[in-house]
Amino acid sequence: MYELAYSRPASLADALALLAEDEGAQAISGGQTLMPVLRARLAMPSRLVDLLKLPELAGIRAVDGGIEIGAATTHADVAASGEVRAVLPALADLAGGIGDPAIRHRGTIGGSIANNDPAACYPSALLALGASITTSQRILAAEDFFTGMFSTALEPGEIVTAVRFPACQRARYIKFRNPASRFALVGAFAAQLPSGTRIAITGGGHGVFRWREAEAHLDSGGTIDAITEDMLDLAHFTGDLHGSAEYRHHIAAVIVRRALTALA
Ligand SMILES: Cc1cc2nc3c(=O)[nH]c(=O)nc-3n(C[C@H](O)[C@H](O)[C@H](O)COP(=O)(O)OP(=O)(O)OC[C@H]3O[C@@H](n4cnc5c(N)ncnc54)[C@H](O)[C@@H]3O)c2cc1C
Repeated sequence: MYELAYSRPASLADALALLAEDEGAQAISGGQTLMPVLRARLAMPSRLVDLLKLPELAGIRAVDGGIEIGAATTHADVAASGEVRAVLPALADLAGGIGDPAIRHRGTIGGSIANNDPAACYPSALLALGASITTSQRILAAEDFFTGMFSTALEPGEIVTAVRFPACQRARYIKFRNPASRFALVGAFAAQLPSGTRIAITGGGHGVFRWREAEAHLDSGGTIDAITEDMLDLAHFTGDLHGSAEYRHHIAAVIVRRALTALA
């Protein structure tokens, strides 16, 4: 490591002030992504501003018609939460399948969505469920928040404070996981909302996206069995040493059918 300053502010206002007064400063939550990045010198912030203990980012609470999860909530706490499981069991299952126990006990929902790794699990749930993201400045729909691979609508110095999900019993996340990292080689989140079926795919390579052709097919009375990769644009997928674009494309259609079958 190189020398850098570290601050643990006591309030969101103090954290925002620290980030604003030093443009080299960077927020850190669980550090499960950022620490390896620092070790590899892929980022060299002058100061880390630790968000993990901020009271404004803590807690899981029932809100009108759904659940709100503070940004500093770990994956393990989401997985173990009775409140989350009662209204959105698929989200508790998703959180319980992230990485390994060490990752789950340090990594946070806020850090995960701010990072927006193209193979991360949470972004697919936010997109499929139509979640909203509260930041230090505004409230954003998931649709507007995720803008591409490792890219979000967050402005410099803006902090995610919470994520709000609607209640949904008919939702399912299926991850075809990379056995080494446990990230999604491809993951699919399917949800039956009052407005219709929603399907979001992660792991394609360019960032999370909705499979709108399959949604429209189902909402117009089409069957699950008729959903094939022919309806899915191959351009959403890239290849790497873990699998080709064509392989991911095929697996995506398979796990979407499995997720939908589990809902039905
Ligand atoms: C071996 C391994 C396996 C993993 N497997 C999976 C998996 O299966 N599925 C999955 O989804 N993820 C997986 N992850 C990623 C893991 O979920 C991380 O916890 C997550 O990506 C980052 O969360 P964090 O709290 O550690 O964020 P950090 O590493 O602290 O921060 C990540 C980025 O987000 C920014 N940031 C952090 N918090 C906020 C905030 N509140 N507001 C604004 N910006 C913020 C930071 O500045 C940084 O740029 C894995 C990671 C590892 C190392």
